[in-house]
Amino acid sequence: MKIAILPGDGIGTEIVAEAVRVLNVLDLPFESETALVGGAAYEAHGHPLPESTLALAKAADAILFGAVGDWKYDSLERALRPEQAILGLRKHLGLFANLRPALCYEQLTHASSLKPELVAGLDILIIRELTGDIYFGQPRGRRTAVDGHFPGAEEAFDTMRYSRPEIERIAHVAFQAARKRSKRVTSVDKANVLETFQFWKDVVTEVHQQYPDVALDHMYVDNAAMQLVKAPKKFDVLVTGNMFGDILSDEAAMLTGSIGMLPSASLDKNNKGLYEPSHGSAPDIAGQGVANPLATILSVAMMLRFSLDQAESADRIERAVQAVLTAGLRTADIWSEGTVRVSTREMGDAVVAALTGNTIVKSLTTRI
Ligand code: NAD
Repeated sequence: MKIAILPGDGIGTEIVAEAVRVLNVLDLPFESETALVGGAAYEAHGHPLPESTLALAKAADAILFGAVGDWKYDSLERALRPEQAILGLRKHLGLFANLRPALCYEQLTHASSLKPELVAGLDILIIRELTGDIYFGQPRGRRTAVDGHFPGAEEAFDTMRYSRPEIERIAHVAFQAARKRSKRVTSVDKANVLETFQFWKDVVTEVHQQYPDVALDHMYVDNAAMQLVKAPKKFDVLVTGNMFGDILSDEAAMLTGSIGMLPSASLDKNNKGLYEPSHGSAPDIAGQGVANPLATILSVAMMLRFSLDQAESADRIERAVQAVLTAGLRTADIWSEGTVRVSTREMGDAVVAALTGNTIVKSLTTRI
């Protein structure tokens, strides 16, 4: 097994360091190599995704990614901005399926912006198509309007499009994921208004014929946004297009309390994947040693499960994270009265200890 480790910028380097320590104590047969990406790569090589980093990512079985970006790069031309690295990796590696579990840990129900009873036990999986839709559709641009409400005025336009194979492959990912959970898929669309999403709905319905053991329902995106805050536990697997998924997955993230807890996976057709926390590089707290490394550590668990066929080790990591939360350890983003505030490093120490013997968890909890 070969793992490419791309820490990136800001808190990316701090949280990935802890995730790598967790990976190392599992004593699995893998090789890893680290490379620069994002702003760090731009500083060193003049490009956020240098050829050498891309080659390493292509050669690996899985990629562990931290985060990229910093406000100081906002004035760079778009192609050189750190965030382009992630778009480039998705495109060159064919990563079309973004999986984001939104799981509300029992110990953190109070950290959600919703009432505890609405989120206690929440366990949903959002599957977002990642390479199509209005984000990539051509043509796009600015021009002078020839028709519409204001002919002759300056206007901007984008193109929403999905092809049948693009919808079929993401639908298969959703139905197969649902088979490993409670066998329910909600496909989110806007079929009442958009031709693209009537087609989406039709194709998802056709693919569903191959999965008679999985229940499928369809929901308009405006209703889905509402149901996610009204009764989120009624979802199991939610599958949708690139733009709706972008918005709904961030909404779901907040249900769980902190974005610092949420891992994600972006998979290609062979389940090779890029694994990263759902959050960004958090320049506001970078270098302070306070970032929550658990989303990245849980991303390692997803990597072991989805790309490296090491489900048992994935379970061990998830149990260790539970144990650390149960012991009352919290980074600043999830801290509350009566729990122990720990640093990024101490949280990493605690997960490593839970995996190997628990002594550090005890020494930290005596701090109360
Ligand atoms: P962000 O996710 O970096 O931060 C949002 C807020 O959440 C901040 O207050 C931050 O301190 C907090 N936060 C995030 N992760 C945390 C963690 N692990 N522990 C504790 N608190 C945490 O989003 P932003 O501020 O909008 O963006 C900052 C930079 O990150 C931008 O340059 C943006 O483009 C980039 N970004 C990168 C990715 C990626 O690499 N995949 C994703 C989103 C944003």
